[in-house]
Amino acid sequence: MPLVSSTPLLQAARAGGYCIGAFNVHTLEMLQAVVEAAVETDSPLIIQSTVGTVKHLGPEYIAAAATVASNMNRIPIALHLDHCTEFDLIVRCIRAGYTSVMIDASHSPFDENVAQTLRVVEVARPAGVNVEAELGKVGGVEDDIVVADNEALMADPDECAKFVELTGVPTLAPAIGTAHGIYKGEPKIDFERIKRIADKVDVPLVLHGGSGIPEEQVRRCVVLGMAKMNVATELRIVFSDAIKAVFAQNPEENDPRKYMVPAKKALKEAAIEKMRLCGSFGKAKDFR
Ligand SMILES: [Zn+2]
Repeated sequence: MPLVSSTPLLQAARAGGYCIGAFNVHTLEMLQAVVEAAVETDSPLIIQSTVGTVKHLGPEYIAAAATVASNMNRIPIALHLDHCTEFDLIVRCIRAGYTSVMIDASHSPFDENVAQTLRVVEVARPAGVNVEAELGKVGGVEDDIVVADNEALMADPDECAKFVELTGVPTLAPAIGTAHGIYKGEPKIDFERIKRIADKVDVPLVLHGGSGIPEEQVRRCVVLGMAKMNVATELRIVFSDAIKAVFAQNPEENDPRKYMVPAKKALKEAAIEKMRLCGSFGKAKDFR
């Protein structure tokens, strides 16, 4: 089936009390691995790329690969641009075939965030493309955007409600204590805050920083309304570690297939585990 907007996928997930894994990919093999994981478990899938990866590979190449993967399979797949601050790049990605985009103006004052998000919603909506925006600041590093942990500001529930009302944004990523990268110790998720936000906002909520959140905490987030979980760092590590293991055994290896095949397999297994945590197994059939 063709690539789909992530809006209906995420609305169904929130209504159904499950979550959809959104996996950052950087190579064709990574894209294939997460698709195979979703097909095997019949899970809806969101493939995403950071601005850095989009600039590295070109959005047209990524969209072409995702489109092929989608057309070859009977699961709903959305292609999402993660954490973008550049309006022109968002437009280019939509033209290339992305079905979901994130405008991240969370580092700007509230009114500026509203204005920038509104501008993206106005171009995305007629194209049938989902938009995600962020309120508050998620800690850690995302490409070249850095937020120190002590600077990480949580989203305010009343502001979330006002933000959704003013922008009409169909999905919202409120900062609730998670961070990008790998956690030093346990993440300090503010579950009470998620509940208060979910009570005021009926759009699907997005959980950033999904690498290494303990199972029980993921489940609590999902029950409270988190419908999309972003996972990047953990998958990169799994993929890279499998490649390193090949070279540790055979430093002379020079056939990319010899190290990409085990890396793909490791990534696929890790993605399946995340889909299990999300509770998305078997949910793809609801969209056929
Ligand atoms: Zn993020």
